[in-house]
Amino acid sequence: MTAKPAAAAARATVYGYPRQGQNRELKRAVEGYWKGRVTADALRQTAADLRRSNWQQLADAGITEVPTGDFSYYDHVLDTSVMVGAVPERHRAAVEADALDGFFAMARGTQDVAPLEMTKWFDTNYHYLVPELGPDTVFTADSTKQVAELTEALALGHAARPVLVGPVTYLLLAKPAPGVAADFQPLTLLDRLLPVYAQVLADLHAAGAEWVQLDEPALVQDRTPADLNAAARTYRELGALPDRPKLLVASYFDRLGDALQVLAAAPVEGLALDFTEGAAANLADLAAVGGLPGKRLVAGVVNGRNIWINDFQKSLTTLGTLLGLADRVDVAASCSLLHVPLDANAERDVDPQIRRWLAFARQKTTEITTLARGLAQGTDAIAAELAANRADLASRAGSAITRDPAVRARTAAVTDADGRRSQPYAQRTVAQRAHLGLPLLPTTTIGSFPQTNELRTARADLRAGRIDTAGYEERIKDEIREVLSFQEKTGIDVLVHGEPERNDMVQYFAEQLTGYLATQHGWVQSYGTRYVRPPVLAGDISRPEPMTVRWTSYAQSQTTKPVKGMLTGPVTMLAWSFVRDDQPLGDTARQVALALRDEVGDLEAAGTSVIQVDEPALRETLPLRAADHAGYLAWATESFRLTTSGVRPDTQIHTHMCYAEFGDIVRAIDDLDADVISLEAARSHMQVADELAEHGYPREAGPGVWDIHSPRIPSAQEAAALLRKGLRAIPAERLWVNPDCGLKTRGWTETRASLENLVAAAHEVRADL
Ligand code: GLN
Ligand code: ZN
Repeated sequence: MTAKPAAAAARATVYGYPRQGQNRELKRAVEGYWKGRVTADALRQTAADLRRSNWQQLADAGITEVPTGDFSYYDHVLDTSVMVGAVPERHRAAVEADALDGFFAMARGTQDVAPLEMTKWFDTNYHYLVPELGPDTVFTADSTKQVAELTEALALGHAARPVLVGPVTYLLLAKPAPGVAADFQPLTLLDRLLPVYAQVLADLHAAGAEWVQLDEPALVQDRTPADLNAAARTYRELGALPDRPKLLVASYFDRLGDALQVLAAAPVEGLALDFTEGAAANLADLAAVGGLPGKRLVAGVVNGRNIWINDFQKSLTTLGTLLGLADRVDVAASCSLLHVPLDANAERDVDPQIRRWLAFARQKTTEITTLARGLAQGTDAIAAELAANRADLASRAGSAITRDPAVRARTAAVTDADGRRSQPYAQRTVAQRAHLGLPLLPTTTIGSFPQTNELRTARADLRAGRIDTAGYEERIKDEIREVLSFQEKTGIDVLVHGEPERNDMVQYFAEQLTGYLATQHGWVQSYGTRYVRPPVLAGDISRPEPMTVRWTSYAQSQTTKPVKGMLTGPVTMLAWSFVRDDQPLGDTARQVALALRDEVGDLEAAGTSVIQVDEPALRETLPLRAADHAGYLAWATESFRLTTSGVRPDTQIHTHMCYAEFGDIVRAIDDLDADVISLEAARSHMQVADELAEHGYPREAGPGVWDIHSPRIPSAQEAAALLRKGLRAIPAERLWVNPDCGLKTRGWTETRASLENLVAAAHEVRADL
């Protein structure tokens, strides 16, 4: 394949870049500001320095048009709320008194005022602050931040393109403000919002913007005809503005589907589309609508949310096809690079053989410019890069790390029976009742206990060599004993060891599994100043030795009550890691499941009668389009069953879920065939209990009766009232008593009081039965 040179030189661009800086300077500056250690001016200076350095990195890599306005002190959707004047009433005074402090008050709340709600940005692990709108919302344009950042970039000599959250996506992501009817549809505010966008566009035009990008990822989800009409009207109206820059409407994370036709017909000058694996249908769809004659097409061929090197040959083929479908084709990452870490070269500890397969943000920008050069000048111009890329890909495909014959043989031999328990739930529950001898409404917790400063210090001491492994393990054992004795004293029925040895519920396992890679500097923004380092599923997964058995056994040796074994499930392992792109997700899940299955077996053999496999991410990983749900749920539930089905009937399997509403996946939850599920429910007043009942969920369940996300201590009466409510949906033989989630972020004071109240509530309600 040799791509012919394009008529006009293709430009290379990105939609956004990691904000934090090489050493997470932004986190330190923002948190320092909150603590009063950094002045507002110093914070602004740090931010400006980071933007300058990011743009320079992009320009040095050959990116010909840099994004502006993607930077944020906290979240770019919150910036958008400020831009359109959608400040909730309760924050207005603070914002008027001081824009920066008011901004942080909206993000984090204050002593007296609640923050905006936070939720996941599509199916990524980034969280945005949900706009709160109502029929009384009055929008006003404030383009200060957008204009300032554009001006900065232009003054530094960059060709710059401001990036805004598009008006349709903004409204579709919003929710009714507190006090507004729950069925209020923010999209009905479109007519009020468009003049504000018109003003911002005019301001950016006046400030020198040739192009402005409007991000509309909400259009890759299943949309109603009314939504699509709103999109059509939006771009008809914005396109008709007399005083405006050229408009680039960007979509990412999936195929545009029906929205493609709408945007292709809109009077805007450019579209940006995702052409990576998951959105590959965009290519045929684009041909089917007759391409984008007269328009600029920005082709997202470099995956912006995984960390693997691009396949140049494949991308050039796609780009070559696209040349025939648009007036001009530019090259980009599929979405903002916000979702990947900054620099793979900073990973000094990663096996160099694996490092050559990795592309973080910096490496991706180079890939984009290489592809743009190949597209513009022909493949001969990038012959050396192509050869190197081919070699890197071949090294990955042929490596013993990605092809472990033992793992492959084992996954290939999996039968349907491996994913089925030997007896159905109805029989198992009888055996478990006899084996465990628990009272009605048994009490338990979700796994972790407060991660105290002493524990964090112990881990830091171990890393720094101030204590040795034996010394560290003594401290862990002390902690386990303390957690157990508290639970015994309080009268909890099924105990946990408290997870003191775990840094993180995914990383802890990733570090012990072969084929899984932890990064040292691979920070990715989760929300605000919280960054996570997702591990990398790099190769075939196997478990060289037991991972949790000694801690669980140690805990069990200290008590006669059952101690619950505690594992992270395969779906959540995948959801909170960077996944392989060279095999279906289901194959990777199956490998992880088999490794965990061995752990479950070893726990059982060591005398563990109750084993919990956490799947908090099961719901959040649901694909964006309904048509893809069944395929996902099939491999997701299969991998859970594969993990848990090897045990005896009288061994009780628990699972745990949180961070989501579950009404729409009760069938899938049932398909897990777990004996007991604990769910987040306290904040929704036990609504999940009703949802489980409505769907005829036949197993045991513990809807949480303590909202652990708040330091508030629930009283025994309050918890008892929730339990009584739960009893209306779930019979006493199947109802468990537990908090909403793990306690690692809580302090001991409220943990003690709350769990005592939970146990008191269980006693009180048992007495009525
Ligand atoms: N077992 C884990 C814990 O208690 C579960 C965490 C979670 O659901 N996010 O910390
Ligand atoms: Zn949880």
